[in-house]
Amino acid sequence: MEKKEKDKLKENENSVPEAEEKVEKIEVCYICHKKFNINADDESYYWKNKYPFCAYCAEFYGFYR
Ligand SMILES: [Zn+2]
Repeated sequence: MEKKEKDKLKENENSVPEAEEKVEKIEVCYICHKKFNINADDESYYWKNKYPFCAYCAEFYGFYR
């Protein structure tokens, strides 16, 4: 019984595709209208979860966060 539960957990771990989380998502910056990848590992983010800010503008307008 115990062993079966463990096997189940292991299966779930393996089914998570880690590499697919960093898919490029091109957005147009709300401020400077530059195209950029919002999923890049930089400062870019969605302001108010709606307006895409590129890394440069995110830094410049960081105090609005
Ligand atoms: Zn920008």
